[in-house]
Amino acid sequence: MLTRKQYQFWFCTGSQDLYGDECLAHVAEHAKIIVQKLNESGKLPFEIVWKPTLITNELIRRTFNEANTDERCAGVITWMHTFSPAKSWIIGLQEYRKPLLHLHTQFNEEIPYDAIDMDFMNENQSAHGDREYGHIVSRMGIERKVVVGHWADETVQDRIASWMRTAVGVVESSHVRVMRVADNMRNVAVTEGDKVEAQLKFGWEVDTYPVNEIAESVDAVSEADTNALVDEYYDKYEILLEGRDADEFRRHVAVQAQIELGFERFLEEKNYQAIVTHFGDLGALKQLPGLAIQRLMQKGYGFGAEGDWKVAAMVRIMKLMTQDMADAKGTSMLEDYTYNFVKGKEGILQAHMLEICPSIADGPISIKCQPLSMGDREDPARLVFTSKEGRGIAVSMIDLGSRFRLIINDVNCKKTEKPMPKLPVATNFWTPEPDLYTGAEAWILAGGAHHTAFTYDLTAEQMGDWAAAMGIEAVYIDANTNIRDFKKDLMLGELFYR
Ligand code: MN
Repeated sequence: MLTRKQYQFWFCTGSQDLYGDECLAHVAEHAKIIVQKLNESGKLPFEIVWKPTLITNELIRRTFNEANTDERCAGVITWMHTFSPAKSWIIGLQEYRKPLLHLHTQFNEEIPYDAIDMDFMNENQSAHGDREYGHIVSRMGIERKVVVGHWADETVQDRIASWMRTAVGVVESSHVRVMRVADNMRNVAVTEGDKVEAQLKFGWEVDTYPVNEIAESVDAVSEADTNALVDEYYDKYEILLEGRDADEFRRHVAVQAQIELGFERFLEEKNYQAIVTHFGDLGALKQLPGLAIQRLMQKGYGFGAEGDWKVAAMVRIMKLMTQDMADAKGTSMLEDYTYNFVKGKEGILQAHMLEICPSIADGPISIKCQPLSMGDREDPARLVFTSKEGRGIAVSMIDLGSRFRLIINDVNCKKTEKPMPKLPVATNFWTPEPDLYTGAEAWILAGGAHHTAFTYDLTAEQMGDWAAAMGIEAVYIDANTNIRDFKKDLMLGELFYR
C-alpha cells in the first residue's frame, strides 16, 4: 500500500542583472549542467528540476509560491552563482512553506590559476553571494539545511540525497492519518499525548473507531479470500507446530489472514495509513492482531500498540522516508523489553507481544501459535524471526505537556549470544550508543518511551532535521554523549522550546 508521490525538487539559482546578459547566460548554463549531472549521478532518490535564474523580487516570490502549490515539489534547492542581493529574497522566503536546502557550491572545482581574471571572479562568486543569502535566511530564522562542497563530490551528492528523504518526511507528515481502534492502555502515561497539538505541529489526523466496526469488516472477508492468503503464508513462512494439531494451527492462522484482509480493506476505504490496537480492547476480534499487523507494517502501514498513536505515525513517516531505498534493511515499531547486563555483552532485547515488522528480519521467518500471557482471546498466530545486524536508530516522540520532544538514539544491532527457542516472538537485540549504561541513563533522563520507531535506513541527522523542520526539540544519544553535557542539552531545550 505504501504510496508516495513522485516527488521532485526545484533547483533555483540566484543572481542579478548587474553582470550583463553574457554572465547570466553562463549562470543558467552552469545550473543546467549541475542539475543534469546530479540527476545522472544515480545518487539521488528524486529528480531535480531546473528553474530559470532568480534575479528579481517578483520572480523569486512567484517561484516560491509556485513551489508551495505544486504538489509534486517536495522542496527547493537554492544556490547563489553570483552575488544576489538578499533583500530580494525576503518576501519569497517569507511566503515559502516547504523544505529548503542551501547548496553552497560553485561550478568550477579548482581555481583556474593561469586564466583567472576579474570577469571570472565576478561570474563565480558563490563564496561571496551564498554568504549574503545565508545571512538573510538566518536573520529570518528559517529552518534549512546547508550542504557545502563541489556538486560533483559524491559526499555532497550523498548529503543532498539524505536531505531529500528528510524533506519527503516533512512534506508527507501532514498526510499521515492514524486510525485508533482502541484508546490508550489504562493508566499508561508515555503513550498519551495531545492529538490537537500533534495535528498543529505535524499535521497528523488521529481518529478513533469502535473496534467492532473494524471487526465487522474482518467478518465480511470471504472464506475463499482468507484461504488463499493462508496458502500464501504457508508458502512463504516456516510452520512451527510445536506439538499443536495441524488443522487447529491452520484455523488459528486463518483468523490472522482474515484480520489482515479485513483491516486492510477498512484502512483503504477510509484512507488511513497507520493503525493503533490494544490487546485489552478487542471487541469481536477472535485474536489480538499479530501476524496480520506484522504484514500490514511490511506493506508500509504505521503501527502503534496499546493505543500508541505517536509511534504509529512515526513508523509510517520513517517508512515513507525510506521507500524505494535499494539496500533498505527495514523499519519497525519495537519495545525495550529485557537487558543483558553481562560485562562486555550488554544489550537490550527488543520485542513486543507480537507486532514486529518482518522488514527487519534476518533469515527464515516462522509462524507460531502461542498463548498470550495477557488478555482473554485465542492463542494468536505470529511471525517469529531474529533481526539483521548493523547500525540503526531508535526514536521516541514524547509529549511533555506543553511541547513535544524527539529522542534519537544510535544503536548497534547484534545477534544474541545464544538462540532463544522458547521465546515465541520476533526480536532484535542492540547496544545503544555510547554504551548501555550511558545510553539508557540518557534515554531515561530525556523521558524516552518503551515503544520506539526503529530503522536501519535513516540517520540521527535526518530525524533531527525532520524534528527541526517541525519546530520541535530533538535530543541525540550517540557516541559523543556524556551525561553532564546531555543534561545541559535538556536544560537548553527547556529554555528554548518553552
Ligand atoms: Mn507495548
